[in-house]
Amino acid sequence: MEDKNRYRRMLKKENLRNTSHRQSILEALEASEEPVSAETLYLTLREKGISISISTVYRALDVLVEKDIVAKTDFTDNNKSLFEIKREEHRHHLVCVKCRKIIPVKECPFYEYAGELEERFGFSITGHKLEMYGYCQKCGGSPGKTGD
Ligand SMILES: [Zn+2]
Ligand SMILES: [Zn+2]
Repeated sequence: MEDKNRYRRMLKKENLRNTSHRQSILEALEASEEPVSAETLYLTLREKGISISISTVYRALDVLVEKDIVAKTDFTDNNKSLFEIKREEHRHHLVCVKCRKIIPVKECPFYEYAGELEERFGFSITGHKLEMYGYCQKCGGSPGKTGD
């Protein structure tokens, strides 16, 4: 499968052994549209019949984050870290403070601004993160235009 080769390459590039656990974790993260917690990931893997312990999940995630294959986001208000595979595609997130729904947003308004900041501060920007907090449609937001 093409995807599996992609993970193998990612791991190989970082000199990581391609353990089946790491591979399964990457596949599960790739399949998930939203960032997930280590616990959710653990349950997903168990549901797929993969025998793995929660501490193995944590350890594998730490390594993948350290190697820049997986992005870790700490949402400040509930002490929970969420993990997301680094995609080619850059994303931002809308986070519902009531039901915890996370909506990925593909558009980024910052490319030009980042360039301005680089120029102004002589700073070489390698990335940024943005989460916006509020209420989703179900939790009291407005109807919106996307229909989902
Ligand atoms: Zn909500
Ligand atoms: Zn952005």
